[in-house]
Amino acid sequence: MMNKNICLNLCKVSGIHPDKNLGQNFLINQQVIEDIVDSVEAGPEDTVVEIGCGIGALTYELCAEAGQLIGIELDKRVLPALESRLSEYNNYKIINQDVLEADFSSFGPKIKVVGNLPYYITTEIMKRLFTYHEYISDITVMMQTEVANKVVAKPGQDGYGLMSIMAANYGEVEVVTNVDGSNFFPPAPVQSTVLHIRILDKPRAVTSDEQHLFRFIKDALLLRRKTLLNSLAAAGYFGGDKAQIQEAIVKAGVEPSARAEKLTLQQLADLAEVFKK
Ligand code: SAM
Repeated sequence: MMNKNICLNLCKVSGIHPDKNLGQNFLINQQVIEDIVDSVEAGPEDTVVEIGCGIGALTYELCAEAGQLIGIELDKRVLPALESRLSEYNNYKIINQDVLEADFSSFGPKIKVVGNLPYYITTEIMKRLFTYHEYISDITVMMQTEVANKVVAKPGQDGYGLMSIMAANYGEVEVVTNVDGSNFFPPAPVQSTVLHIRILDKPRAVTSDEQHLFRFIKDALLLRRKTLLNSLAAAGYFGGDKAQIQEAIVKAGVEPSARAEKLTLQQLADLAEVFKK
């Protein structure tokens, strides 16, 4: 159970002043906590990895459901409060580490990932999780609505970009709920959205080199109002030689005057293959 009084009290007795720079907005609405935990659907056989445990609003509930919980928390100051909140459980391990350095392949063959993310690094975290897709069965995360909209955007829609393409490549995304800033302590200055992403057994795009694919997509989308031909010339493919670029685009079965933001994932993957150096 978590509410504003419990949160304030835990912060007070542990001498914690939430740190804006670490994205510390702690959840104080039990209903939102339950919505997130329910959508994780953790059972006794599951290993759940939580990103950014804070003072344990989600961790406490997750320990009750999961076989094992691994929490990754960067801020040493919150650890005593977190440990005291979890004192009735013995199925958890807290790792004091930057999530952007965490090795998600080391936690088990298929983990469930959950987190009320530190918003200042949402995009970096999502990219990192997608690179570990083989080891993850699903991801339930709260992030600022603005970024969540990018994750769910379809080709041609506002916000469509690398995030949308990665999410579509690796998973099936669903909006769980929208959360107002007043549900946090201190209140969050932005609207938030909880997403559930079921990771596919096999990524959708057929590609020989995932890293190259996403580098290429980033380049192709950089000048999103330009044609593919102009974007790729500006990005320096084939030394910026438009004739060669045009030929390569046609070879991939794509129209050179198309804009990258309108292309499907597989079209982008086909293009990436012919632009491989
Ligand atoms: N899960 C708690 C909750 O819902 O109340 C806290 C969520 S708070 C939005 C984000 C948490 O991520 C904070 O506890 C913060 O210290 C932690 N954090 C920030 N940067 C981090 C990083 N690079 N690696 C791991 N944890 C981080």
